[in-house]
Amino acid sequence: MPNPQPADADVIRQTAARVAVELHDALRAHGHSVQVVPEPPSYGQPYVTFLSPLREDEARLITAALAAYSGARESGQPCGECRSIKQEWATAQRGGDREGAAALAWSMGLHQRRAHT
Ligand SMILES: [Zn+2]
Repeated sequence: MPNPQPADADVIRQTAARVAVELHDALRAHGHSVQVVPEPPSYGQPYVTFLSPLREDEARLITAALAAYSGARESGQPCGECRSIKQEWATAQRGGDREGAAALAWSMGLHQRRAHT
């Protein structure tokens, strides 16, 4: 699989750094101090990691926020291809198929760039 061009990698790193700060600040606004760190780009996608396991109340806060989240999709319609790729990815993850999961993550990146930007 091709690596992203350096310029793309820089943009992806900046995105990961921004998302890490946003997630940290969002939790901070609710009184939680959770360290979130940007990860190196992988398969053309930005990643972040929680530096330590989430406490129950932190996980419940995120769960509640997601339950209340109506979605930012512009069309307001769920995307069938996103759902399909996510289901295949989940199946690959459960089956321990790391290469398959990585390939699907790559496919998702391509699809999102084509269909959702
Ligand atoms: Zn989609």
